[in-house]
Amino acid sequence: MISVGVHVSIAGGLDKAVDRAKDRGCDVFQIFSSNPRGWKSRPISVEEAESFAVRFKESGLDLAVDHMPYLPNLASSKQDVYAKSVQALANELGRCQMLGIPYLVTHMGSHLGAGREKGIERIVDALETAFYSVKNEAVLLLENTAGTKNSMGGSFQDIAEILDSLGIRRARLGVCLDTCHLFAAGYELRTQEGLAETLDEFQSSIGMERLKLLHLNDCRGELGSHLDRHEHIGLGLIGETGFRAILSHPALCRLPMILETPVDSRRDDLGNLMAIRRLALELE
Ligand SMILES: [Zn+2]
Ligand SMILES: [Zn+2]
Repeated sequence: MISVGVHVSIAGGLDKAVDRAKDRGCDVFQIFSSNPRGWKSRPISVEEAESFAVRFKESGLDLAVDHMPYLPNLASSKQDVYAKSVQALANELGRCQMLGIPYLVTHMGSHLGAGREKGIERIVDALETAFYSVKNEAVLLLENTAGTKNSMGGSFQDIAEILDSLGIRRARLGVCLDTCHLFAAGYELRTQEGLAETLDEFQSSIGMERLKLLHLNDCRGELGSHLDRHEHIGLGLIGETGFRAILSHPALCRLPMILETPVDSRRDDLGNLMAIRRLALELE
């Protein structure tokens, strides 16, 4: 049995997210605990945190994951944005601690033209600072990106270098692989052989034990197109064949999976959850 779910809204209160995940038949779910398009986040009260934890426990769901807002840029070469970004990361780690959420997903940001080396330096420094200021158990998951211009994290090498530079605190880091981003960045996933080759590269540069979460999204762009356009499961260029390969892989099928697929006239979250469960069932 796979453990799969979707991203849900926290509108009306954090505990409402648990109800939404339950309603959609999720095993796991992801939230933005803060406004995804803002810098400021409303503090979480002790009561609110408790009510979330209680509701989560009662729900029987396997896992809740938090995602960082989009504005922070941990690789930024602009000092003001950078300082705010490190603060936002520390703040979000603290929120995970309050809510008892074990994983926080973050993007690695953009070096804005300053160069990859500078970008990595910035990210490592940001992680060191945030980890130093918030001592908690939440594991920070670096999410791979589609490798658009100046963006960090499009290659396994970027993630490997960050891990290598972190020293002792690397115990607090893991990886979230987004299948749409992987494919758009040029990593083959559509066949068992292609996927095996991609994971061999992941194993030798990062190590499979770091991989904690999958974002399952099909992709509208071609392999290596660097286009970050999510598509419904099976309807994009990864296709059903690709998702069959992913779901039948012994190391991947055991990981929690979050869908970040579109909601439009063709399909909603429930439709994509059904699509992924049907593919998984076919393989049993
Ligand atoms: Zn993301
Ligand atoms: Zn993602």
